[in-house]
Amino acid sequence: MIINKRLAPKLEEDGTVEGVVCIPSWRCPPSAQSPSQLPVTPLTHESGLPEPPSNPVEPETQEDEEPPSVDGFGFEAGCLAPELSDVNDAASELFDHGEDECGVFGVYAPGEDVAKLTYYGLFALQHRGQESAGMAVSNGDRIMVVKDMGLVSQVFDEPTLNSLHGHLAVGHCRYSTTGSSTWDNSQPTFQGTPEGGMALAHNGNLTNTDELEQWLTELDAAHGVPHKVRMDSTSDTALLAAIFARLIGGQTLATAAAREVLPKLKGAFCLVFCTENTLFAARDPQGIHPLVLGRLENGWVVASETAALDIIGATFIREIEPGELITISSAGLRSTSFAEPDPHGCLFEFVYLARPDTKISGRRIYQVRTEIGRTLAMESPVDADLVIPTPESGTPSAIGYAEASGIPYGQGLVKNAYVGRTFIQPSQTIRQLGIRLKLNPIRDVIAGKRLIVVDDSIVRGNTQRALVKMLREAGAAEVHVRIASPPVMWPCFYGIDFATRAELIAPGLTVEEICRSIGADTLGYISLEGLVACTGVAKRRLCCACFDGEYPVPIPPDRVDELQNGC
Ligand code: SF4
Repeated sequence: MIINKRLAPKLEEDGTVEGVVCIPSWRCPPSAQSPSQLPVTPLTHESGLPEPPSNPVEPETQEDEEPPSVDGFGFEAGCLAPELSDVNDAASELFDHGEDECGVFGVYAPGEDVAKLTYYGLFALQHRGQESAGMAVSNGDRIMVVKDMGLVSQVFDEPTLNSLHGHLAVGHCRYSTTGSSTWDNSQPTFQGTPEGGMALAHNGNLTNTDELEQWLTELDAAHGVPHKVRMDSTSDTALLAAIFARLIGGQTLATAAAREVLPKLKGAFCLVFCTENTLFAARDPQGIHPLVLGRLENGWVVASETAALDIIGATFIREIEPGELITISSAGLRSTSFAEPDPHGCLFEFVYLARPDTKISGRRIYQVRTEIGRTLAMESPVDADLVIPTPESGTPSAIGYAEASGIPYGQGLVKNAYVGRTFIQPSQTIRQLGIRLKLNPIRDVIAGKRLIVVDDSIVRGNTQRALVKMLREAGAAEVHVRIASPPVMWPCFYGIDFATRAELIAPGLTVEEICRSIGADTLGYISLEGLVACTGVAKRRLCCACFDGEYPVPIPPDRVDELQNGC
């Protein structure tokens, strides 16, 4: 049964394929507007069921095309370490931050409009992935998947959402880190099983895909399925879904399959998946990326961030534990542990990835970032007239820096909030505008001022180089760059797209050299110790690998050379 094809050959006129339909949004058939066949049953989730485990953390409970600077700063491109010439090659990127890879959302709420809850949940998670969006909705008999390339608001419209009826849903918005940015790799990924179907959404990167591929090969052989035929996508999520599909069937239900699969996964994974009648959520033993549990009056919600709970009026219950599997069905909510927890939450979530209104480890991200700014001001002071952020990610830290330094805060840059990852390549003329597609200076604010510009991070350095140049052209007297994270020295293998080590600007260069390269008067980074202190989380419970190279989960074997050779 071929399901996940843009033009599924077995698609019937009414849009169904053996009880299941999986189509891009523009093909949503009117006949999909069948009412839910599941009786609406209020949840009695806690009676007679084990309590979820206690939470170890406190519950609430760019880029342009500019080459490296060679003018006025006594620094020539030819003097740079070899890495910088590689950096130049990457200068065509418009955006120069570690990009999020995905947002996941799930809801089990009989009687509620789960499609619209998922839509708004994904809307709140849009910052975690703008390449594709999708949701799977089950009415108890069949799972319907609608997904397509683009933003949540581009993929779903009112008629599409009105056609999706059911009592549970899984949603996803994607930024690709493994697998190309194509429809086939958009999620949720659907797989038919002997028991019906399942739809899977994943945030993170698996690091043992070779082992899993081998396992799937063996399962295919055991099931008489030609290997490779099952792969209609190159993402690790498709691999995972195919393994689930091989295991579910006969006496093996989805829950048992999950208990067999989850302990074998390595790397970062926040999984939200469903069969026709059960919603599942699982988080890797390190809890690298966030996943939270929320409560609706008539059901449960799981989401990448607490902000997605807020937007649909769900109450935050707790973070899903590292190594925990949650199962939600008409029998209620059950929690089991599939691996010993070894918490190492992603430090970069605090710096850039998560929304400022989200809470992680009991701390509001906005407060963490303002604290980072205050610490940065103490660690890296400079005399200046005005503190401005690189909006929006640098804003809370700039406010904190201004508070601690006593230097006025101002808005010197306006961000075009709607420049996402568009799929329209800019023309050469537009491309030459570079960073102005994203940021535009307010000249009246900037002219004649000694500026402190606070940004969240420097990855390749291209954005900051273009930014400094633009601010000088707008009349800034001095430009002092302050960064709310330490130098990014190592790539991320757990789902954040920092590219390769050779593309990073920091390895091989001193801070002074980086400063010259971006053309700033001075450059200061917060220390790793200072940053960790701002999070309120012990360093041993954090992943800081992109800053210190200490990876909490072994990296994929085919990337070891890159780290050892430094390129
Ligand atoms: S390597 Fe960096 S970005 Fe990746 S999970 Fe660790 S802290 Fe986060």
